[in-house]
Amino acid sequence: MAYGSGGFRGDRRDQPKEYFKTKCSDCGNECEVPFKPTQGRPVYCRDCFKKHQPEGRSGGGDRRRF
Ligand SMILES: [Zn+2]
Repeated sequence: MAYGSGGFRGDRRDQPKEYFKTKCSDCGNECEVPFKPTQGRPVYCRDCFKKHQPEGRSGGGDRRRF
C-alpha cells in the first residue's frame, strides 16, 4: 500500500528543478513554474492552476480530496 509514497523520488534530490518566473494569466501574480512558459499559452499560479484544472463534472467542488 505504501507504494509511491516514498523513496520513489529520491534519486532526483540533488538535481533541483529549474523554475521559470512568469506571471499568472489569471490573477496576474508572479509565480514560478517548473517548465518554460510558452508564449501565447496561459500560465497559472498554483491557486489558479487548481481552479482551471478540469475537475470531474459539475457540482463537485473540492470533494475529490482524500
Ligand atoms: Zn493566479
